[in-house]
Amino acid sequence: MPEGHTIHRIARDHAPLLVGRPVGASSPQGRFVEGASLLDGRVVERIEAYGKHLFHWYEGAVMLHVHLGLYGKWTVGRDDPPVPRGALRLRLTTDEAWFDLRGPTACELLGPGERDLVLARLGPDPLRRDADPSKAWDRISRSRVALGQLLMDQSVLAGVGNVYRAEVLYRAGLSPFLPGRELDRERWDLLWADLRALLRAGVRAGRIVTTEREDRDRRTGRPRREDAHYVYRRTGLPCRRCGTTVRTQVMATRNLFWCPTCQS
Ligand SMILES: [Zn+2]
Repeated sequence: MPEGHTIHRIARDHAPLLVGRPVGASSPQGRFVEGASLLDGRVVERIEAYGKHLFHWYEGAVMLHVHLGLYGKWTVGRDDPPVPRGALRLRLTTDEAWFDLRGPTACELLGPGERDLVLARLGPDPLRRDADPSKAWDRISRSRVALGQLLMDQSVLAGVGNVYRAEVLYRAGLSPFLPGRELDRERWDLLWADLRALLRAGVRAGRIVTTEREDRDRRTGRPRREDAHYVYRRTGLPCRRCGTTVRTQVMATRNLFWCPTCQS
């Protein structure tokens, strides 16, 4: 599933091609015909990312809400759009570019106030300047639930997914099984700061790299895919720092990866 950095990257990449322009909108698949007809011809005023949610603000207080879920994907091109194929939920076109959306969990129009309802269900997003980390702390510091589960809960923190969960806990030396209320404030502040730094790096690079250079097998140049993470998808391999076998088990419906020595 795309994590928050992907959605912020999409917002950043799409904005210069969409904002301030009228769009053509259609739903070749047929599942968003009414919505598309309401968007058709309107000017995009703003594109906003919040956690894993994307919002297009259109003139006339019309808003498009997209959540990619597990399988959703945007495809963008500059030339003439290709002949529509497959489950193409939404196609947006401008005089310069086209944007095809396939397979989202949510693709809907929101009325006034409905965006606030979506945001009210979400914790702070470390990628946003207006994020208030104390809101997440309030939840975590009162919870008996394990950190590895809390970090995946979008109502605690928005945008964190399975890769960042595993990696940020490893980097902090924190057990994913530690109950939230046993975390102290200082370690939470460090965790938040690291999460923000990692997510920002993810937006810039368009991929998740969490390893420090000295912990990679190859220590120069752009990290290879197999060098990018400490524990994520490294089950059975030796920990980069202590050599202990990396373990996995399901937590919050996804595979959790951790080093039982570095994160005890
Ligand atoms: Zn280790």
